[in-house]
Amino acid sequence: MAYVVERKSLSLSERLYLPQIVAGMKVTLKHLFKPNVTLEYPDVRPAIPPGYRGVPTLVKDPNGREKCVSCQLCEFVCPPKAIRITPGEVPADQPQRAHVEKGPQAFDIDMLRCIYCGLCQEVCPEEAIFLQNTFSMAGYTRAEMVNDKAKLYELGGTLPDQHFKWDKKKAAEEHGNAHH
Ligand code: SF4
Ligand code: SF4
Repeated sequence: MAYVVERKSLSLSERLYLPQIVAGMKVTLKHLFKPNVTLEYPDVRPAIPPGYRGVPTLVKDPNGREKCVSCQLCEFVCPPKAIRITPGEVPADQPQRAHVEKGPQAFDIDMLRCIYCGLCQEVCPEEAIFLQNTFSMAGYTRAEMVNDKAKLYELGGTLPDQHFKWDKKKAAEEHGNAHH
């Protein structure tokens, strides 16, 4: 035989929802005079803290030279395989990069795959790839969500370089002190 559970009928105040409305209004009033914790995004952009890991970018050194030497470490370490690099020779018409063996002919990062983990930045021996403060990317097609080399440098710009590795190597060679 089926057992029927008797339900308690609602009181008048429960049927009017008044206590709930008053409780809700109390919360609203409590927050009315507090400072805002939300932003009118995208008209108001949030302040990005130092060290923020946004969209990965390629950077140039303060002399405007490409830092990436196309070693492909970032491509191998990237967990979701978002990076695709086509290594190439450094063009002969770039004497300022004569001490560099390779450079990327093509460098693509698929932002539909990237998980913003920062491993590419950590592994790069040339400090050529950085996750900077761009945090929103949108597009209508999959192709638009792949950042090519030109876009990566546009996003990355130039960062200070503590090491000036190639300048030191060139100076050492001029003084007959180079280690190849
Ligand atoms: S941040 Fe992580 S997922 Fe994105 S490109 Fe770099 S290694 Fe790959
Ligand atoms: S960005 Fe860095 S790790 Fe990646 S290929 Fe270039 S030099 Fe190598």
